[in-house]
Amino acid sequence: MARYTGPVCRQCRREGLKLYLKGDKCFTDKCPVTRRNYAPGEHGQGRKKLSNYGVQLREKQKVRKYYGVSEKQFAKYFDMADKMEGIAGENFLKVLETRLDNVVYRLGLASSRAEARQLVNHGHFLVNEKKVDIASYLINTGDEIEVKSKSTQSAKFKELVEGHQGSVPQWLNIDTENLKGKVVAEPSREDIELPIEEHLIVEWYSK
Ligand code: SF4
Repeated sequence: MARYTGPVCRQCRREGLKLYLKGDKCFTDKCPVTRRNYAPGEHGQGRKKLSNYGVQLREKQKVRKYYGVSEKQFAKYFDMADKMEGIAGENFLKVLETRLDNVVYRLGLASSRAEARQLVNHGHFLVNEKKVDIASYLINTGDEIEVKSKSTQSAKFKELVEGHQGSVPQWLNIDTENLKGKVVAEPSREDIELPIEEHLIVEWYSK
């Protein structure tokens, strides 16, 4: 399935919650979900009761949009998680969390996952001192992620150093002065703050 290229905020309104797709705007009262929390379109205000199928589908779409992943890649991650030891739903979320674009976003080195994806694709990051420009690259515990030294001179990253609050999830460390992060542990389920019922996604893929 092709990547969605329509208005980003429409995706949040469709799912009825903030998916934080638009950087700083998401934290202001300009957020359309805060202003108009109903689905977009002519019939948006008359939400119908969903069937089980519909509930599972919406949960899957919500998470897929949150991480900005294609249907094909999302299904591939589920297969991967399903083969791992432990709870499939939790493993699935952990795999999604370890995508390089998500880690860059969680480290506060981009204002949204979409921006992180673009910065990675443009080759601004090193993983363990080697250039990685694949946003879907999966990070392991112990990996070090840093902004390429040439890129740190750009206005974008200089601004980041000045504005970085230094707070990152507990499975990550950040050296804000040098724009260098480290994965110190596996992400845990509690680190994912979006209200997700991952068992619904497991049920979707288990049909
Ligand atoms: Fe738009 Fe962000 Fe609000 Fe979503 S959370 S509707 S992306 S401003």
